[in-house]
Amino acid sequence: MYCLGIESTAHTFGIGILNKKGKVLAHAKSAYTTKAGGIIPGDAADHHGEVCSSIIGEALTKAGLCMQRIDLIAYARSPGIGHTLRIGAMVAKTLAALYKKPIIGVNHCIAHLEIGRLLTKAKDPVLLYASGANTQIIAYEAGVYRIFGETLDQGVGNFLDSLARHMGLGFPGGPHIYTLSQKSKRLIELPYTVKGMDVGFGGLLTHCKKLYDSQIYTQEDLCYSVQETVFAMLLEVSERAMAHTGKKELLFGGGVCCNRRLQNMAHTMCHERKATCFIPANEYMVDNGAMIAWLGLLMYQNGKQKSPSIDAVDIDPYERTDDVAVYWR
Ligand code: AMP
Ligand code: MG
Repeated sequence: MYCLGIESTAHTFGIGILNKKGKVLAHAKSAYTTKAGGIIPGDAADHHGEVCSSIIGEALTKAGLCMQRIDLIAYARSPGIGHTLRIGAMVAKTLAALYKKPIIGVNHCIAHLEIGRLLTKAKDPVLLYASGANTQIIAYEAGVYRIFGETLDQGVGNFLDSLARHMGLGFPGGPHIYTLSQKSKRLIELPYTVKGMDVGFGGLLTHCKKLYDSQIYTQEDLCYSVQETVFAMLLEVSERAMAHTGKKELLFGGGVCCNRRLQNMAHTMCHERKATCFIPANEYMVDNGAMIAWLGLLMYQNGKQKSPSIDAVDIDPYERTDDVAVYWR
């Protein structure tokens, strides 16, 4: 059994093809970008519409399959930008109707967690999902993937990108901030915004922009201090979720988790509490079609989810991670 998964929640249009055992046969993607960073929803949707057939072709060629041999179409149904989600759903619907295949819609955040479990062999982890738009700490508890903590305003990646844009560093900002941070060891005290189990970046962003404009500190010192501060915030909440649930595994997902400093800090935290930190390859932490295909397979093979009629295929830009009944575990 082969599943073709379609990711289109934001900037990335991705296709992944997996077999029923979870072997990734191929994945391909194209990301919409702008010079200044950020996403104009209509333009991102146009991008996805333009690239969809070539990306599908690329993935099928890499996998050595044709559409007729695909048994299931999965697409990212939620959460994300309505404009771009709709393109993915429309592509899925068209393929399903044309080739008479079952179709299944999946939750993007849960797909990050499940591809991580598949590829790293983590069994029951706490997921730190730190991407451009999303920042959530998620773990399985009492039948659902619960959000133990999350951002109260923007995603940590968007925070890094906005600050980098203000400093003229270019997009995406996270890797630029990392490079500069390597050249400093001077820790500037910055606002540390952990509220209960949640984090916030809005006030910190304003503060850092003012510090940058005042020219008191070097860019390197600022980048170093920003990373130390926000990564400590993320890991404090992750560690508390691990302590609360008694879980001994931390899993990474989302583009910000590609950051080496965050990875080292997480390894230290896990080592100190006799836990393990699992870090998938970068290509599977950023948005990709393979994770959508894998969650589609899990849901479909565990039977409770029937393929909807083509007319009932929908999207839900606002679905919460804990709204989804997790019957495959
Ligand atoms: P995603 O939304 O999961 O595709 O991730 C994109 C976000 O990850 C952007 O905000 C990037 O700035 C950020 N990012 C990518 N690589 C790194 C890195 N090495 N360090 C920090 N942030 C990163
Ligand atoms: Mg994502």
